[in-house]
Amino acid sequence: MLNFMWVCFQISASSAGNYHLFFRCELCGVSHQSKSDRWKHVYERHGDDPSVLCSKSNCAKVFASAEMNIEHVNHHKLQGAIPNTCEICGKLWSSRVDYWKHMMGVHAEVVPFTCGVCLKVLPDLSQLIEHVRAKHWPLTGGDFCCDICGRPYSNRSKMSRHRKIHFMTVAKSDEGRGGESLAEPPNDEDVRPRPAIATKKANKVHTSI
Ligand SMILES: [Zn+2]
Ligand SMILES: [Zn+2]
Ligand SMILES: [Zn+2]
Ligand SMILES: [Zn+2]
Ligand SMILES: [Zn+2]
Repeated sequence: MLNFMWVCFQISASSAGNYHLFFRCELCGVSHQSKSDRWKHVYERHGDDPSVLCSKSNCAKVFASAEMNIEHVNHHKLQGAIPNTCEICGKLWSSRVDYWKHMMGVHAEVVPFTCGVCLKVLPDLSQLIEHVRAKHWPLTGGDFCCDICGRPYSNRSKMSRHRKIHFMTVAKSDEGRGGESLAEPPNDEDVRPRPAIATKKANKVHTSI
C-alpha cells in the first residue's frame, strides 16, 4: 500500500512538471530534456552506429533516431550531396536560408557548432574547428569565409559579425529569442566585447534621455 501511494505521488509530481518534454534515446533508453540534448547524447555515445549515421562519408550526419536516418536517404535523392537537413529533428528544408532560420529559431544552442559548409552539427567548438580543417580546408566557398565554421560571406563586416556567435553563450531557444539575436552581437574583429564601445553606447543612451 505504501509502495502504491509512493508511485501515485511520483506520477502526480511528474505530471505537474514538464513530463511531455522528455526525449528518449531509442538506442539505450536515456531521457533528455530537449531534442538537441538527445541529439548530442546520440552523437557522443552512438555516433558510429550505422542505424543513426548517414552512410555518405561527405555528409556523415548523425541523427537522433534511426527513422530520421532512413528518411534522410530521400533528402540526398532530392538535394544531392549536401541536403538542407536538420539532423536534430530530421526535417528537410527547401533552401539554406530556411535551414538557418529553423536552426536559429528552434535549435539556437547548436548554431555556434554548425558547419557553414556542409551543415553538419558538431557537439562543441573544438570539434567544429577540427571538422572544418579536416574536411573543408582551404575554404573556397566565398570571398570571406568564417575561419571557424567555413560559412561564406560576400563582405568582411558581415563575416566578422557572424564569427562572434562561435564565442557567445546562446540562450535556450525556448525563451523565444529568434535568429536576430545571434546575428546582432557588437561590432568588428575583436572576439570579446570592448569596454570602450560599451561605454560609448552607454553615454549615447544617457544623453538621449
Ligand atoms: Zn543512448
Ligand atoms: Zn547524409
Ligand atoms: Zn531541427
Ligand atoms: Zn562540414
Ligand atoms: Zn562561423
